Amino acid sequence: MKNLNICIDIDGTVTEPFYWLDKANSYFGKNLKPREIRVYDIEEAMGLLPGDYDRFYDEFGEELHRGARIRSGVTEVIRRHHLTHYIHFVTARDKRMKDVSIEWLKSHNIALDSISLLGSHDKAGKAAELACDIFIEDRYENALQLSEAGYDVILIDCSYNKGPLPSNVTRLKHWYQVDRFIAEYSVMYDSLELVL
Ligand SMILES: [Mg+2]
Repeated sequence: MKNLNICIDIDGTVTEPFYWLDKANSYFGKNLKPREIRVYDIEEAMGLLPGDYDRFYDEFGEELHRGARIRSGVTEVIRRHHLTHYIHFVTARDKRMKDVSIEWLKSHNIALDSISLLGSHDKAGKAAELACDIFIEDRYENALQLSEAGYDVILIDCSYNKGPLPSNVTRLKHWYQVDRFIAEYSVMYDSLELVL
Protein backbone atom coordinates (compact mmCIF):
# COMPACT_ATOMS: atom_id res chain seq x y z
CA MET A 1 0.00 0.00 0.00
CA LYS A 2 1.25 3.46 -0.89
CA ASN A 3 1.76 5.89 1.95
CA LEU A 4 -0.14 9.01 1.01
CA ASN A 5 1.11 12.47 1.95
CA ILE A 6 -1.85 14.17 3.54
CA CYS A 7 -1.48 17.93 4.07
CA ILE A 8 -3.83 19.53 6.57
CA ASP A 9 -4.55 23.18 7.32
CA ILE A 10 -5.19 24.09 10.99
CA ASP A 11 -7.58 27.03 11.46
CA GLY A 12 -11.16 26.22 10.50
CA THR A 13 -10.07 22.78 9.29
CA VAL A 14 -9.10 20.91 12.47
CA THR A 15 -10.26 23.73 14.76
CA GLU A 16 -13.80 25.03 14.92
CA PRO A 17 -13.92 27.93 12.46
CA PHE A 18 -15.26 30.65 14.81
CA TYR A 19 -13.25 30.22 18.01
CA TRP A 20 -11.97 33.81 17.67
CA LEU A 21 -15.41 35.38 17.16
CA ASP A 22 -16.59 35.96 20.76
CA LYS A 23 -13.38 37.74 21.68
CA ALA A 24 -13.34 39.74 18.42
CA ASN A 25 -17.00 40.74 18.95
CA SER A 26 -16.31 42.11 22.41
CA TYR A 27 -13.03 43.78 21.37
CA PHE A 28 -14.60 45.57 18.38
CA GLY A 29 -18.04 46.13 19.94
CA LYS A 30 -19.83 43.92 17.41
CA ASN A 31 -22.36 41.14 17.72
CA LEU A 32 -21.82 38.99 14.64
CA LYS A 33 -23.08 35.42 14.47
CA PRO A 34 -21.13 32.64 12.71
CA ARG A 35 -23.69 32.42 9.90
CA GLU A 36 -23.13 36.13 9.16
CA ILE A 37 -19.46 35.52 8.34
CA ARG A 38 -19.70 35.06 4.58
CA VAL A 39 -16.14 35.90 3.52
CA TYR A 40 -12.82 34.57 4.80
CA ASP A 41 -11.21 37.98 5.37
CA ILE A 42 -12.08 38.92 8.95
CA GLU A 43 -11.77 42.70 8.48
CA GLU A 44 -14.15 42.56 5.54
CA ALA A 45 -16.50 40.13 7.31
CA MET A 46 -16.69 42.32 10.44
CA GLY A 47 -16.63 45.71 8.70
CA LEU A 48 -13.30 46.74 10.28
CA LEU A 49 -10.64 49.18 9.09
CA PRO A 50 -7.39 47.93 7.54
CA GLY A 51 -4.96 46.97 10.31
CA ASP A 52 -7.66 46.57 12.99
CA TYR A 53 -7.57 42.80 13.01
CA ASP A 54 -3.75 42.68 12.98
CA ARG A 55 -3.65 44.73 16.17
CA PHE A 56 -6.21 42.45 17.79
CA TYR A 57 -4.30 39.37 16.60
CA ASP A 58 -0.97 40.69 17.91
CA GLU A 59 -2.51 41.01 21.35
CA PHE A 60 -4.73 37.92 21.52
CA GLY A 61 -3.66 35.57 18.69
CA GLU A 62 -1.57 33.23 20.81
CA GLU A 63 -4.22 33.05 23.54
CA LEU A 64 -6.90 32.35 20.95
CA HIS A 65 -4.87 29.59 19.29
CA ARG A 66 -4.17 28.02 22.69
CA GLY A 67 -7.88 27.88 23.53
CA ALA A 68 -9.15 26.89 20.06
CA ARG A 69 -11.91 24.29 20.08
CA ILE A 70 -11.25 21.16 18.06
CA ARG A 71 -13.73 19.84 15.49
CA SER A 72 -15.29 16.55 16.43
CA GLY A 73 -13.69 13.38 15.05
CA VAL A 74 -10.36 15.02 14.15
CA THR A 75 -8.10 13.21 16.63
CA GLU A 76 -9.53 9.74 15.90
CA VAL A 77 -9.55 10.15 12.12
CA ILE A 78 -5.98 11.51 11.95
CA ARG A 79 -4.69 8.81 14.34
CA ARG A 80 -6.19 6.06 12.22
CA HIS A 81 -4.70 7.33 8.97
CA HIS A 82 -1.35 8.14 10.54
CA LEU A 83 -0.86 4.37 10.94
CA THR A 84 -0.53 4.16 7.13
CA HIS A 85 -0.02 7.67 5.78
CA TYR A 86 2.06 10.78 6.44
CA ILE A 87 0.35 13.69 8.15
CA HIS A 88 1.76 17.17 7.39
CA PHE A 89 0.23 20.29 8.88
CA VAL A 90 0.53 23.31 6.58
CA THR A 91 -0.78 26.57 8.04
CA ALA A 92 -0.71 30.24 7.07
CA ARG A 93 0.03 31.10 10.71
CA ASP A 94 3.28 33.03 11.31
CA LYS A 95 6.39 31.21 12.55
CA ARG A 96 6.03 32.97 15.92
CA MET A 97 2.96 30.75 16.48
CA LYS A 98 4.99 27.53 16.15
CA ASP A 99 5.20 26.65 19.86
CA VAL A 100 1.54 27.30 20.61
CA SER A 101 0.54 25.37 17.48
CA ILE A 102 2.61 22.30 18.39
CA GLU A 103 1.41 22.41 22.01
CA TRP A 104 -2.22 22.58 20.85
CA LEU A 105 -1.81 19.60 18.50
CA LYS A 106 -0.10 17.61 21.27
CA SER A 107 -2.72 18.51 23.85
CA HIS A 108 -5.37 17.04 21.53
CA ASN A 109 -3.30 13.90 20.85
CA ILE A 110 -3.08 14.68 17.16
CA ALA A 111 -0.49 12.56 15.37
CA LEU A 112 1.77 14.26 12.83
CA ASP A 113 4.99 13.95 10.86
CA SER A 114 5.64 17.63 10.22
CA ILE A 115 4.30 21.15 10.62
CA SER A 116 5.00 24.13 8.34
CA LEU A 117 4.05 27.68 9.30
CA LEU A 118 4.13 29.66 6.06
CA GLY A 119 3.06 33.15 7.16
CA SER A 120 1.20 33.34 3.84
CA HIS A 121 -1.78 31.79 2.07
CA ASP A 122 0.38 30.53 -0.80
CA LYS A 123 0.44 26.79 -0.11
CA ALA A 124 1.14 25.26 -3.53
CA GLY A 125 4.94 25.39 -3.13
CA LYS A 126 4.83 23.54 0.17
CA ALA A 127 2.39 21.01 -1.28
CA ALA A 128 4.92 20.31 -4.07
CA GLU A 129 7.79 20.00 -1.59
CA LEU A 130 5.79 17.48 0.46
CA ALA A 131 4.63 15.54 -2.65
CA CYS A 132 1.09 16.12 -1.44
CA ASP A 133 -1.64 13.63 -2.44
CA ILE A 134 -4.60 15.12 -0.57
CA PHE A 135 -4.84 18.64 0.90
CA ILE A 136 -7.51 19.35 3.52
CA GLU A 137 -8.50 23.06 3.71
CA ASP A 138 -11.28 25.47 4.67
CA ARG A 139 -10.23 28.51 2.58
CA TYR A 140 -11.96 28.63 -0.80
CA GLU A 141 -9.16 30.51 -2.59
CA ASN A 142 -6.58 27.98 -1.31
CA ALA A 143 -8.70 25.09 -2.53
CA LEU A 144 -8.85 26.63 -6.02
CA GLN A 145 -5.11 27.38 -6.07
CA LEU A 146 -4.21 23.84 -4.97
CA SER A 147 -6.70 22.32 -7.39
CA GLU A 148 -5.19 24.31 -10.26
CA ALA A 149 -1.74 23.08 -9.26
CA GLY A 150 -3.07 19.51 -9.67
CA TYR A 151 -3.74 18.44 -6.08
CA ASP A 152 -6.83 16.66 -4.82
CA VAL A 153 -8.46 18.82 -2.18
CA ILE A 154 -11.01 18.25 0.55
CA LEU A 155 -12.75 21.53 1.40
CA ILE A 156 -14.31 21.49 4.87
CA ASP A 157 -17.71 23.13 4.37
CA CYS A 158 -18.10 26.55 6.06
CA SER A 159 -20.35 29.61 5.68
CA TYR A 160 -17.44 31.59 4.15
CA ASN A 161 -16.29 29.07 1.52
CA LYS A 162 -19.40 28.55 -0.60
CA GLY A 163 -18.84 28.64 -4.34
CA PRO A 164 -18.51 26.35 -7.33
CA LEU A 165 -15.76 23.74 -7.15
CA PRO A 166 -13.63 22.01 -9.78
CA SER A 167 -13.84 18.20 -10.02
CA ASN A 168 -10.72 17.55 -7.89
CA VAL A 169 -12.12 19.48 -4.91
CA THR A 170 -14.60 17.64 -2.68
CA ARG A 171 -16.73 19.57 -0.19
CA LEU A 172 -17.27 17.60 3.05
CA LYS A 173 -19.07 18.65 6.22
CA HIS A 174 -17.68 16.26 8.79
CA TRP A 175 -14.39 14.56 9.66
CA TYR A 176 -16.08 11.14 9.56
CA GLN A 177 -16.64 11.82 5.87
CA VAL A 178 -12.96 12.77 5.59
CA ASP A 179 -12.16 9.37 7.14
CA ARG A 180 -14.12 7.52 4.47
CA PHE A 181 -12.76 9.71 1.65
CA ILE A 182 -9.13 8.93 2.57
CA ALA A 183 -9.86 5.20 2.97
CA GLU A 184 -11.54 5.03 -0.46
CA TYR A 185 -8.87 7.22 -2.08
CA SER A 186 -6.19 4.93 -0.74
CA VAL A 187 -7.91 1.79 -2.11
CA MET A 188 -8.48 3.46 -5.48
CA TYR A 189 -4.84 4.54 -5.65
CA ASP A 190 -3.67 0.97 -4.94
CA SER A 191 -5.92 -0.56 -7.60
CA LEU A 192 -4.64 2.00 -10.14
CA GLU A 193 -1.07 1.05 -9.27
CA LEU A 194 -1.93 -2.65 -9.91
CA VAL A 195 -3.41 -1.87 -13.33
CA LEU A 196 -0.36 0.18 -14.34
MG1 LIG B 1 -7.87 27.55 7.51
